[in-house]
Amino acid sequence: MRRLFLWMAANAWLRTRIPKLWFSRRAVRRFMPGEDLASALAAGVGFQVEGLGTLYTRLGENLTRIEEADSVADHYRGVLDEIRERRLDGEISVKLTQLGFDLDVERTFHHATSLAAQAAESGKSFWIDMEGSPYTEATIAFYERMKSAMPNTAICLQAYLKRTAADVQRLIPLRPEIRLVKGAYAESPSIAYQTRHDVDANYLALCVSMLQAIRDGHPVRLALGTHDVRLIEQVAEHAAALGLPRTAFEIQMLYGIRMDQQRRLAREGYLVRDLIAYGEAWYPWYMRRLAERPANVLFALRQIVG
Ligand SMILES: Cc1cc2nc3c(=O)[nH]c(=O)nc-3n(C[C@H](O)[C@H](O)[C@H](O)COP(=O)(O)OP(=O)(O)OC[C@H]3O[C@@H](n4cnc5c(N)ncnc54)[C@H](O)[C@@H]3O)c2cc1C
Repeated sequence: MRRLFLWMAANAWLRTRIPKLWFSRRAVRRFMPGEDLASALAAGVGFQVEGLGTLYTRLGENLTRIEEADSVADHYRGVLDEIRERRLDGEISVKLTQLGFDLDVERTFHHATSLAAQAAESGKSFWIDMEGSPYTEATIAFYERMKSAMPNTAICLQAYLKRTAADVQRLIPLRPEIRLVKGAYAESPSIAYQTRHDVDANYLALCVSMLQAIRDGHPVRLALGTHDVRLIEQVAEHAAALGLPRTAFEIQMLYGIRMDQQRRLAREGYLVRDLIAYGEAWYPWYMRRLAERPANVLFALRQIVG
């Protein structure tokens, strides 16, 4: 099932057709407050009242014309203005390919540093998402370059990749801000753990290594980008055993998933941030969400019949 949906995510023919179907637009609402920025910001205002921070991401990846990257950057400049005006505890999270990484790396660097600079004016970080493995090394090298230009840059790393333990050690001296996720793409067994048991074990080991670094005085902002509450509890137990407070790490989850847990964790004193995605180019992203959880496919099917 997972492989089928990941294949569908990458299929160009389906990408142009499925979003036009009325029921798929309804079904995607489970994961998005709406397609436009105004809906995302309105949701963010509501979350702030409940003690949740937010992350904003406009869906879209792998541009084909570099001019589109300029307009994406303009859009995010507007998002940062809105966050500032509304005094939101919000940050932006961006895919490098959305800023033209496939087409012109220097232009991507220019856009990314200018967005990070604008975020820094309000004391916020600028997050870089992690894409499929053809981008891993280039994204990490880009992050290293960004960190020396704009220290408020943050990156996502994937626990299913075998290389990530070495990447964490590589980044720790840079005072990194790291969101650790399990990983959302189809990767081969030669480079990625395949079973849930192995991915979870690596996730926990990576968190423990970063918590130890924090305990030893290395400034690391660790964000757990997962809905796996059992795993979060295990990380919290390790943090407590190391003498670290609950605020030594933060938790980031997606809009619409485990909202009850997001609110509970925030009430219990954890730092929780909800990632709100919006935009018209939701198809591959939505397929990856279906791939993660068969129950979501049933939900989507229910939209068709009722
Ligand atoms: C804030 C954030 C940012 C992310 N950024 C990236 C990125 O940049 N690059 C990348 O490769 N991946 C990214 N991901 C996706 C990530 O890699 C996983 O694919 C995704 O989070 C599902 O895995 P999980 O950690 O929640 O654990 P799982 O083991 O998949 O799920 C744990 C439990 O959470 C619940 N759950 C998980 N997913 C869903 C769902 N879709 N619908 C309903 N319930 C669900 C279920 O109860 C499940 O049992 C991000 C995830 C988050 C939360």
